[in-house]
Amino acid sequence: MKIIQPYQTIGIMGGGQLARMMCIAAKAMGYKTAVLDPTPNCPAGQVADIEITAAYDDIEAAKKLAEVSDVITYEFENVHYTALAELEKIAYLPQGSEVLKICQHRYTEKKTISDMGIKVADFRLIEKPEDLENIEYPCVIKTTRGGYDGKGQMVLRSAADLPAAKELAAQAECVLEKFVPFSKEISVIVARSTTGETEVFPVSENIHVNSILHQCIVPARISPALEKEAIDCARKIAENLGATGVLGIEMFVVDDRIVINEIAPRPHNSGHYTIDACVTSQFEQHIRAVCGLPLAETTLHTPVIMVNILGNHLDKNNLHNLAPYHPLLRHGKIHLYGKAEAVNGRKMGHINLLGSHDEVFKLVDESGIWV
Ligand code: AMP
Repeated sequence: MKIIQPYQTIGIMGGGQLARMMCIAAKAMGYKTAVLDPTPNCPAGQVADIEITAAYDDIEAAKKLAEVSDVITYEFENVHYTALAELEKIAYLPQGSEVLKICQHRYTEKKTISDMGIKVADFRLIEKPEDLENIEYPCVIKTTRGGYDGKGQMVLRSAADLPAAKELAAQAECVLEKFVPFSKEISVIVARSTTGETEVFPVSENIHVNSILHQCIVPARISPALEKEAIDCARKIAENLGATGVLGIEMFVVDDRIVINEIAPRPHNSGHYTIDACVTSQFEQHIRAVCGLPLAETTLHTPVIMVNILGNHLDKNNLHNLAPYHPLLRHGKIHLYGKAEAVNGRKMGHINLLGSHDEVFKLVDESGIWV
């Protein structure tokens, strides 16, 4: 086991907002950072010490990242597996490429979780359109790879939806899942360090709008028994995977029991509340975990509601827009990602509204923003 010390360099594959917030945490801890991303002046490039602009599957660029870095991590699961596997041969990649490989493929991911004895929605592999037979409605079809924010998936409510599902299955390998009649969606951020130590953050209750995360409410409005089940499941998944770093585990609540939806092998949007509301943020914890440092306390010091700021919440022609600084939301801690263009649905930033939930909901309503 290796310990990465302050002044050494943490290299990150990917330069979006997650990498940006990793860099900010790493910098505060005295590290240098290097990022590799195809977009010049990407969100993380703006705050990193070294920015390498190249495609994710550019092996030469990945080698360059390895040369300047003492440890390598990644910010999202769609990093090219081959590039990462190559990197693993020449660089220190404590997360390995195996967990990433599992989480990149929805079928393998669900099979791995269900083999741990943890509940997931009933699922089967759809390799070709003809596999879509004997269907029980409602159900959900999802491409095995590459989907996010509701992309690459559709709900089938009756046979009328079958042609569209077959079209999707003709384009890509898919999984077919039983529709889960959930009462809530929640998630748990868990960290496991290179030493095998694990720490879990408080459960977040997640509200999606148009399949994109809109709000995280913490503490989640769930029973203590369910909270314990969610936390135990998250810890068990991290341990059984032998994962290193932070994982975001998305779950459905059905009849006061947990059904796992998916695992993100990295810091997760539903953990952004930790930056301002917990003793340690998910980003600091991730850096600690991959650097072999002791993990830190995760206690929540205030109730919080995180609201995502999307492109459609901002004035596309004027990114200097001060709407997030609405005077009613004085206890809101704003984080903007420095993206050049406000596109509908693009995550531009988030705000952590600290304080009692009733008060925050009232002020958000009165401010009339985020809708
Ligand atoms: P995913 O890309 O798997 O995270 O799915 C995006 C969203 O679609 C989830 O947050 C749920 O709101 C919904 N969803 C996904 N899978 C199911 C399912 N099997 N049953 C019901 N809703 C689902």
